This record gives sequence, C-alpha cells and structure tokens, in this order.
Amino acid sequence: MKKHLISVRDLTEEDVLDLYDLFKQFKTGKKERLEGDVFLLFLESSTRTRLSFERACRLLGLQTYHAGAGESSIEKGESFSDTIKTLKALGFKALVFRVPFVFFPYEDLLKEEISLINAGDGTHQHPTQGLIDLFTAMEYYPSIEGLKIVYVGDILHSRVFRSGAYLFNLFGAQLGVCGPRTLIPKDLSPFGVIKVFDNVEEAIEWSDLVIWLRLQEERFKESYIPSKESYFLQFGLTKDRYAKLKGYFMHPGPVNVWVDIDGEVLYGDKSLVLKQVENGLYVRMAVLYWALKDG
Ligand code: ASP
Repeated sequence: MKKHLISVRDLTEEDVLDLYDLFKQFKTGKKERLEGDVFLLFLESSTRTRLSFERACRLLGLQTYHAGAGESSIEKGESFSDTIKTLKALGFKALVFRVPFVFFPYEDLLKEEISLINAGDGTHQHPTQGLIDLFTAMEYYPSIEGLKIVYVGDILHSRVFRSGAYLFNLFGAQLGVCGPRTLIPKDLSPFGVIKVFDNVEEAIEWSDLVIWLRLQEERFKESYIPSKESYFLQFGLTKDRYAKLKGYFMHPGPVNVWVDIDGEVLYGDKSLVLKQVENGLYVRMAVLYWALKDG
C-alpha cells in the first residue's frame, strides 16, 4: 500500500522515528531504486523544496514530471480532486504538490491509488520542512525532550510553524512564539505553545534554539507591520542578538536579508540554515521511499 504525507498530524511517533532512521541511512549513502513516475505540481514558487524533491526522486530512480503555475487545468477551473484522479488515470505513482490553498479535509482522496505528498499547502502544512527542522535539531542537540524552542516572526501565516510545532511537541520540546501580535494566532492551544514573547531579547534569553520565519507577504490581506525596517529592528536577527544566542538558529528559507536576518550573520557558526537545506534532500528521499516502497 502506498502511503501519503499530507499533515504531520497523521504521523505517529513511530512513523517519525522510522523516517528519521531512513533519513540517516540516505544521508550516509544508502542506495535504493524505486520504479514509477512522480508528478511535481508547484503552483507556488519554490527553490529548495522543489529541487530537493526532484533530485530525491531521481536519486531513487523515479521519473519526474513538473507543472508550475499556469501550466495545468487547475487554472481552467478543474478541481484539485479531479486533477488527482486524472493523474492516477495517467498512471502516476505519486503527486508532490505545493498549492496556495489549504488542502483540508482530504480523507476521501486517500482512497485514490496515488501517493499524495504535501510540499506546502497555503497556511496549513509543510510536513517535510517540519521533519527537516526536527531532524536537524536532533543532530545538533543531545535531546529534544525539554529543549526550549522559539519561533520568531509571522506565525499567523506559517505552515512551517504548524508542522514543526506538532513534531517538536511530539518529542517533548517546550515551545514559544515571538512576533508582532498582529502576526500571532489568537488561539495557540492546538500548537502546544507555552510562551508568547513580545520582546525578542527575552525570547532569545529563554531559548536553546530560535527559528526565524519569513513575513509571508503574499498572504497578507492587510497591513500587519508598520514597515520592514521597523520589523527588522524589533524582531530581526541583528548582530547584537546573534551574539546573545545560547544555541543555534534556523530559518526554513527563503530568507529576506535585512528583514528577517542581518546578512552578515546568516551563515555564521550559529546558523543551521544550510544544514537544513542539505538535510532537505535526505528527508525527501526518506519520505518518498517510506511512501512508495510497498506500493
Ligand atoms: N519555504 C517555506 C514555505 O514554503 C517558508 C517560506 O516560504 O517562508 O512555507
């Protein structure tokens, strides 16, 4: 049976540990060959996610086909569920999708004999990024249990936060958020957040790991911040704040330099940004293999 990965909320701790095991095996040179065709439908722009999924497919021996915005019949009004049925009828083994809308509910579509892998749907989920962030933290910290992690920035629109928070919670981390109140969801109870910081200095002081997020301006329906300059001064990773970090920092990318992070510290010793990118390839190999090996 093929598996799907639409939301991290569908993963058990055992699934995540299986994926971690595969991730480590692929990272240390495991070779596996799968057969079949994978369709990469990316209706939103992407560098890291799209290329690492494509490369992961090819390293596993899977053929890739790609369509971007304006290149599928979704633009002619075809529904996403009919698109999935069409891809199945054409013989695709998996669909990796990045879409600007929230894909929920999806229960009925799981019956289709095509594996559905979410590469980011609206403000909802980005499961492979959540796994990258968890696995990278597992590599750089002795334990996730009790680790204090703060997400800084646009929490409201972040699918990276929604995926990562669930996974970090599953392994016992303590979570905080920090950002303009306009960009923090009113109800944080589904995410296990125990601290809300208005002041980034206090957030840095409290945390072992800080994850900066991009302002998702493409999703802004109103003006949430006075200006990018004031946002950087209030919440960005400046050189002073970098010096005060107790542990590492992450950012899922793309980074808006001088808005999220000072360009001079972006790749400093406390940065895991490029480690996250590197791990992205092996996480996606692990997910594809886990989803397709028995199907
Ligand atoms: N690349 C991440 C995403 O697709 C983060 C971002 O775009 O800011 O959600």
